[in-house]
Parts: sequence; structure tokens; C-alpha cells
Amino acid sequence: MDSVKPLIRDEVASLPAYNAGLHPENLRRQLGLARIVKLDSNENPFGPSPKAIEAVKAAASTLYRYPDRNETALRALISGALGVEPDRLAFGDGSEDLIGIIYRMCMRPGEVAVTTVPSFGLHQIWAEVLGARALLLPFEDGWRFPVAAIERALADRPRVLILASPSNPVGVVMTAEDVDRVLAACGPETLVIFDEAYVEFISPEARVDVLARLTRHEGPWIVLRTFSKAYGLAGLRLGYAIARDADFIRNLYKVRSPFAVNAAALAAAEAAFADTQHLGMVTGAIRGLRGELRAALMKRGLEVAPSEGNSLFFDVKKDSKAVTAALREKGVLIKPWLEAGYTSFVRVSIGTRSENEAFLTALDAALA
Ligand code: PMP
Repeated sequence: MDSVKPLIRDEVASLPAYNAGLHPENLRRQLGLARIVKLDSNENPFGPSPKAIEAVKAAASTLYRYPDRNETALRALISGALGVEPDRLAFGDGSEDLIGIIYRMCMRPGEVAVTTVPSFGLHQIWAEVLGARALLLPFEDGWRFPVAAIERALADRPRVLILASPSNPVGVVMTAEDVDRVLAACGPETLVIFDEAYVEFISPEARVDVLARLTRHEGPWIVLRTFSKAYGLAGLRLGYAIARDADFIRNLYKVRSPFAVNAAALAAAEAAFADTQHLGMVTGAIRGLRGELRAALMKRGLEVAPSEGNSLFFDVKKDSKAVTAALREKGVLIKPWLEAGYTSFVRVSIGTRSENEAFLTALDAALA
């Protein structure tokens, strides 16, 4: 007899296990390899600002205290930089935690979150946990955001519209016109969530000031950002939300675990956010390497989606799991896509030049 089954809610039991990357140390030991090239989780291969590392060391002596649950110093920094009132910001244990919290605040069983497919899994999973569901709209040809389909879906007044721009996994961004059309179609009962986890990697010519456009939107909205990607602090877990209303944020803090953001993360993020020079170095380098890697893949005859993020998404025309397993044997980790309709696609994060070269060598062997 299965002793657990009667306990677990159906919504949870029927969920697939989350497809997270493998921890590199486990693989290194398993294969007895000297080097693992980890390009499966869209991390920053250059790491955080050295000032963030110093800040974590300095914070070590006070780690026996609970952290500042008002995130006062970091809140002031971000509020000043964005020109947003401090009480319109919320912080969470990674931005994925904030997605779950916001869904728990707003979504009731049976309600709908509209998003694109392929998609960031948690945009869907956190809805399903609640007995709500995601409506997945495929990108148009050329990986354009499916704006017309989104407009049609919004006519049914879904509870949430959640869009990542740059998209994970595709990497494409919404144009200014896309953003304006989507907002114009949104009724006041739909919460618009723009997930900008990769915003810092967008090249200047493709950048759309989503926050400025949202400021003119009458309905409720949230923008999500993270310290995990361009700031290189994935291991510390810190994301933030910018909301239209301070009242939304006050309610969010009733649902959030009180001390969700740890003291080391706060110390590191304050230093990292202030170090705009390091951020510029990282994002400039990633943009350059992204162009090089995309060109190298296209030279091999692969169709690679245009990307403004720190990853590339492409069709290997074979079972993605088999291809990524072959790369893993060589110590190279990339992410197989498992969503229906995209199971021959893989996502590779942009690494250092030497990591990208090791990836290409392993890929050539796997596709030969
Ligand atoms: N949003 C998107 C689109 C992502 O790709 C990710 C991480 N892969 C996240 C949110 C969550 O990031 P974190 O929880 O590390 O802030």
C-alpha cells in the first residue's frame, strides 16, 4: 500500500518533478572528471562583484541575528535608482519565491494564468499547485511574442498574465509595441506580471522601458527582477518585485515567510547593486559571447532563436534528453527541454569563452 498517496492533494501529486540542473560537484565525483562545464541554469560565469564577496565575509560575524525583515538599506538603494517609492518594493527568497507568493495572494482554484510556451516552468507549476492552471500560448513564427493570441486570451479576463522578457528559455524580448498592445488589452481584474530576470543582458538597441510603460497602465501590475543572473548571486537567493500599489506589497508581506531574505544575501546584494562597473563588465561580456556562440551554432546549420538573455535555445532535431546525456558524459551540462512540442530543443547558458568552446566540442561529438 502507498502510505503517502492519500495525504497528498491531487494538484500536487500530479505535478512533474521540477527539472532543475544537476549539482556539478555530484556529477564531477560520479564521472571522475577534473572539470565540469555548467551551462544548464543560466548562471553568471563571471561571478558576483568582488565587493559582494567582501560584504558576505563582513556579514559573517553577525549571522546569529535574524536579518532586517524590512530590507531597509537595499530597499533605499533600489528605490533611489529606479525612482520608485520604497514601499512599492518587495524582496523574496529568489524571484521564483515571489511568483509563488503572488499566485497564492491572487489565484483561486480554477482560475487561469496566461503565459507563453515554451516557458519558465514555475510560471505554470505555482498555478497548478493551487488548483489553478496556466494557459500556454506558443510563440509565433520567428519566435515573436504571440501578441494576438494574448489579446484574445485577455478577453476572457484571466486572473494573471505572466510574461518573461527576455523569455526563458527562448531569449527573445517584447517590443515596445508588444508591451503596449498587451497592456491595452488587459482588464482591471488581470494582474500583469513582467518577469525581468534577464533584463540586464538586453542590448541597448533592444531595450524597452517596461516600467515606464506600466506606469501609464491603469490595472494592477508587478515587475520581477533577480540578483541570481547578471549580479551573479544565484546561490544566495534574492529576488525583488516592483508593484503599482504599496497596498499590494503590504499584503505580500503577510504571505511571505517573515525572514525569507537572509542576511548574507542582503549584504551581498547591497554591494553588488552599487557596483555598476562590475555589472557593466559582466553584461557587456555576455552580450559579446552570446553573439559569438550563436554564430558558431548557426555555422553548424542549427537554427538558434535570437536571444537578449544569457542563454540560447535551439533545435537539435533529436531527442533532447539523449543529446544532453551525451554531453553530460563529457562533463558539459546543458538543459534538455521537456515541454510537449519542444522535446528536440535544448537551452545552453552563455559561459566564458573557454566553457563555450568545450560545449561546442562536446556538441559536435554528440550530433555527429
Ligand atoms: N524567472 C525566470 C524567467 C527565470 O528564468 C528564473 C530562474 N531560472 C527565475 C525567475 C527565478 O530566479 P531566482 O529565483 O533565482 O531569482
